[in-house]
Amino acid sequence: MAKAITITCKNPGETFNLGVSLGKILVGGDVVTLQGELGAGKTCFTKGIAHGLGITNTNTVTSPSFTIINEYQGRLPLFHMDFYRLENEEVTSDLGLEEYLYGQGVTVIEWPERLAGIIPAGRLEVCFIFAAEDRREIVLIPHGKDWEERIAKIAENLVL
Ligand code: ADP
Ligand code: MG
Repeated sequence: MAKAITITCKNPGETFNLGVSLGKILVGGDVVTLQGELGAGKTCFTKGIAHGLGITNTNTVTSPSFTIINEYQGRLPLFHMDFYRLENEEVTSDLGLEEYLYGQGVTVIEWPERLAGIIPAGRLEVCFIFAAEDRREIVLIPHGKDWEERIAKIAENLVL
């Protein structure tokens, strides 16, 4: 069983900064899934990832709930997906998701549980726990690739 790491974030800035640390070490083809209730901090964290990837205007990073996929260009392309509103699994087959998931960019997915079948096995799972109004427990769970080593390095060098 790969080792999960839990990090406490006491304000949105800390959640953003954790995202920045992750964004800095991402490589092409990485997939990151974000789970947690509405308001848990998934989009805040994604803004940090975008910043870490060198995307300058992270204010434009918003929940893509209505568009499903937003695309940004930084050091690598970032595909930000949100399947919150997805009701019908068949719709996903029309989106050509494999092209993103197995392409050269980075894919960040909110509500991955809505498209169960097609998430790559090698990925970083991030779970957001709404611990209090201003406190989130963020759990990094490595699945395959070299994620276990990479999250250990993030935790080691982390300054929030
Ligand atoms: P989600 O995408 O999971 O629905 P958002 O990132 O859009 O969540 O919203 C998180 C909200 O919670 C923001 O309004 C943010 O200011 C607030 N918040 C308060 N404390 C934190 C924290 N520690 N981390 C992240 N967000 C926090
Ligand atoms: Mg969101």
